[in-house]
Amino acid sequence: MVTATYEAAVRVGTMEAARFHQRNELRAQIAKRGGNIDIFGVIQSLDLPLLVRPLQGLLGAYLSDPVPGILITTQRPLAIQRFTACHELGHYLLKHQPSLDDENILRRMPLTRAQPQDFQEVEADSFAVGFMMPVWLIQWHAARQGWKVDDFNQPANVYQLSLRLGASYEATCWSLVRHRLISMVLARRLLETQPRELKVALLGDYRPQDYRGDVWLLTERDADTRIEGSRNDLFVLKLKEHSGGGYLWDIDQLKASGFAIVRDGREAVDDDGIGGPVSRWVTAAPSEPGTGSLSLDERRPWEDGPPLSRLQLDFDMTGPEEEGLSRAERRRLLQAA
Ligand SMILES: [Zn+2]
Repeated sequence: MVTATYEAAVRVGTMEAARFHQRNELRAQIAKRGGNIDIFGVIQSLDLPLLVRPLQGLLGAYLSDPVPGILITTQRPLAIQRFTACHELGHYLLKHQPSLDDENILRRMPLTRAQPQDFQEVEADSFAVGFMMPVWLIQWHAARQGWKVDDFNQPANVYQLSLRLGASYEATCWSLVRHRLISMVLARRLLETQPRELKVALLGDYRPQDYRGDVWLLTERDADTRIEGSRNDLFVLKLKEHSGGGYLWDIDQLKASGFAIVRDGREAVDDDGIGGPVSRWVTAAPSEPGTGSLSLDERRPWEDGPPLSRLQLDFDMTGPEEEGLSRAERRRLLQAA
């Protein structure tokens, strides 16, 4: 049964998402290692059939006949595939009628109530926002990165948050509004900045073939977390280096983890004078197969023994989802084989 008012529909969707998180301990998993809500893993764990296909004019669909199932398009980036999958999971869990979903699921993000609403869609939208971008997940990443609410004035911070949530920049802006962390006015101002400008600024004089991939700014604050992105994403590592004391980040370790180094430079950390720490900026491109872990030590090249500092993180850069089964389903079949 679908609710009768807009407010009730928002509440139903939001509460269903929160209930699901609680029942399945998703929050406890993320508290350990960070990362985002593994929507495709969740769908697989429910034995809910999901297929990825090139869909014409649709982002996804929820079907219920003869059995429930989800379709997701190949034609969009991972962040949009993820949001669509959350929306379709909402239809399933809320026992909705079948639904063919187009770009409107993205257009409805700003919570405008101008046009007459289909409350079933409002429920699924609210489920998707609450499921993929819950306030506790935003708070976890903000705490980890040292961001206060005021730091969400900066497009660069909101963009980095969006990557860690596995959401688009735009969806992240609107979910910050929904959680009342920023105002509608500020969201509109943030959206005047295109992610492309933020990528160009991070990459400096390195020019990739195109700017479709995302650019992750990784620092010591990302240590021991999980990074999940897509094949043509780039990493910009910004690490404090105590080169005055002879300590250097061992960039060869990055190459050994399968990264191509496309840029490497140093910048003085202001006002520390000569011999003080510098910022080491390294731009790296993951190579195939795109999953693994990265471990980087800061040490004196001539000394054995424990490093002065270490950055370790796990990454999966195999997005977006490709035609056929989801990556989560493929992994399960491989393990079963
Ligand atoms: Zn829908």
